Amino acid sequence: MKLPNKLGKFNGYGGKFAPEVLMPAIEGLEKAFGKFIRDSEFQEELDYYLREFAGRPTPLYYAKNLTEKTGGAKIYLKREDLVHGGAHKLNNTLGQALLAKKMGKKRIIAETGAGQHGVATAIAAAALGIKCEVYMGTEDIERQKLNVFRMQLMNAKVIPVSSGSCTLKDSINEAMRDWLTNVETTYYLIGSIVGPHPYPMMVREFQRVIGRETKKQILEKEDSLPNAIVACVGGGSNALGTFYEFLEDEVELIGVEAGGKGIKTGKHGATLCTGTDGVLHGTYSKLLQDRYGQIEISYSIAAGLDYPGVGPELSYLVKKGRIKVTSVTDDEALEAFKLLSQTEGIVPALESAHAIYHAVKIAEKMEKDQKIVVNLSGRGDKDVFVVAEALGVKL
Ligand SMILES: *Cc1c(COP(=O)(O)O)cnc(C)c1O
Repeated sequence: MKLPNKLGKFNGYGGKFAPEVLMPAIEGLEKAFGKFIRDSEFQEELDYYLREFAGRPTPLYYAKNLTEKTGGAKIYLKREDLVHGGAHKLNNTLGQALLAKKMGKKRIIAETGAGQHGVATAIAAAALGIKCEVYMGTEDIERQKLNVFRMQLMNAKVIPVSSGSCTLKDSINEAMRDWLTNVETTYYLIGSIVGPHPYPMMVREFQRVIGRETKKQILEKEDSLPNAIVACVGGGSNALGTFYEFLEDEVELIGVEAGGKGIKTGKHGATLCTGTDGVLHGTYSKLLQDRYGQIEISYSIAAGLDYPGVGPELSYLVKKGRIKVTSVTDDEALEAFKLLSQTEGIVPALESAHAIYHAVKIAEKMEKDQKIVVNLSGRGDKDVFVVAEALGVKL
């Protein structure tokens, strides 16, 4: 059976855990998405922007130097780092921004923690000519000045949130409140396969392009499917977008979460590896919570993996045993960050470096005629200051 079902459930996970007053907005979105995703004009227009603006298809690059250095399976990189903006995020924000436009919405709102989703939303909104406002905690604004300025350059308004802990979860509350108040004119653009139905399904559909291209490209190059595919997991959108096309195939699918300072320290973002079932941000999924159900604070050196929840469909596929999960620590990710930069001349995002580390680790034990695809979700330019500091380098 195709999932999610009509209630937005993936065998128990998912659903719409939102306040009653938001239901009309959510149902309106569900209907609009159902209509436009099958509309050939919509698809053509989205294809146009993905190709001409975002730079798709992205290459599937054979990492020859890394493979030789590792001495095992062939390692291929799906180059989402080459998407405009520097990560896979634009695949989703373009899709949703176009949907917002078709729905006749005049304004897009989003919320952002480190600012990466805010920037990707600002890019899509500017390209499609829609007004954009991004909620961001004052604490995050202080830490991410560069991304705040980037958004402002592209005409987005950054709205400071100074309630609670002044970070992402407070911005999410404010964005929900705004959506409630302005539902007629406003589209709420969520950045990963999380939130109430239909968001997890919708974001998955917009990110599936990664796996679709990968399948075609690996068949062209190797005439066979890869033995394994590895991707990092924050909310889970780049991972599921890459894996989805291969769910029915004999391919090992591995999600890599943030091990942070080590699982035992409690300072990590390994939700699928260590989390328990509960409701967060409108969906029933795995999450990091204490025994009273209070959400725990996640941590990772990679801002994009620093989230205490994860997509409901991933929770389901992991429980089912179709997708395997593991975690990689900050230090290991830093090692992979340097390794890929040195061997291939590609500076990966710290998020993606988690996936690289694990791919190299398993490639070592595999045969030379086997193949691994790693989704390189983003480029590392945004991370060089954090990395320099972690390595004790003064710039
Ligand atoms: C945001 C981000 C992630 C994490 O988000 P997912 O929804 O898990 O894909 C991973 N890598 C990069 C480069 C990102 O910007």
